[in-house]
Amino acid sequence: DVAIRLDGVRKQYPDGTVAVGDLTMDVRNGELVALVGPSGCGKSTILRMVNRLVEPSSGRILLHGTDVTHSDPVQLRRGIGYVIQAGGLLPHLDVRTNVGTVPKLLGWESRLWRRRADELLDLVGLPPGEYGSRYPHELSGGQQQRVGVARALAADPPVLLMDEPFGAVDPVVRERLQNEFLRIQSELRKTVLFVTHDLDEAVKMADRVAVLSAGGVLEQYADPSTLLSD
Ligand code: ADP
Ligand code: ADP
Repeated sequence: DVAIRLDGVRKQYPDGTVAVGDLTMDVRNGELVALVGPSGCGKSTILRMVNRLVEPSSGRILLHGTDVTHSDPVQLRRGIGYVIQAGGLLPHLDVRTNVGTVPKLLGWESRLWRRRADELLDLVGLPPGEYGSRYPHELSGGQQQRVGVARALAADPPVLLMDEPFGAVDPVVRERLQNEFLRIQSELRKTVLFVTHDLDEAVKMADRVAVLSAGGVLEQYADPSTLLSD
């Protein structure tokens, strides 16, 4: 029941930077694993390799048993929701259309993707009647991040990759978003690889926490409850 397997993965960028050095870890189906570590330790690179925005220099990444370098990137990304800091919304599209982007690309009829988008806006606490027609700049940072989560869930992918998904908001909003995401996750049971530089956030959110040091080296891979005492 391994969903994501990183097997001896290393990434060296063309300028010589070793972003990730020999990383081996698994994420099981339905598990939420947090990758925590200081800025620049390779967290984003790891997520980008899983969804093939970046190719590993060596090692293998398996998604549901298939080597991602042998998958068609478009096909691959249909099974992966990607949430980035500040939502990564398209500024010229209204909120409903942002959320419906992937179903639209998959050729869903207008009526269907709109209904799906509205369902998800409700799920993330943004009533579609009030927010669906707004543009991203008409939302607060926290609301934009909710839309980013809704968008990633739109085609119901089994896997979510989240890169500092609640990183761009104040601590109060951040805590509310964390709690709401935990509620959604308890319902949906996605396989989630969650990147944060905040150990407290990692421990709060995750079933397991991978602690990375500079150069993307795994230091610990532990039950969160044991981590804060070390
Ligand atoms: P994190 O997400 O933990 O902040 P990143 O994966 O963004 O770390 O970056 C890891 C290291 O790789 C950093 O030293 C960063 O400067 C470097 N890096 C990231 N992307 C590139 C790139 N496209 N080219 C060269 N170096 C990069
Ligand atoms: P994050 O910390 O959220 O990963 P960064 O601000 O480090 O984001 O990086 C923003 C963008 O710049 C990313 O696309 C990353 O790949 C790229 N990047 C980061 N570091 C470098 C670098 N040293 N050289 C070239 N590109 C980089």
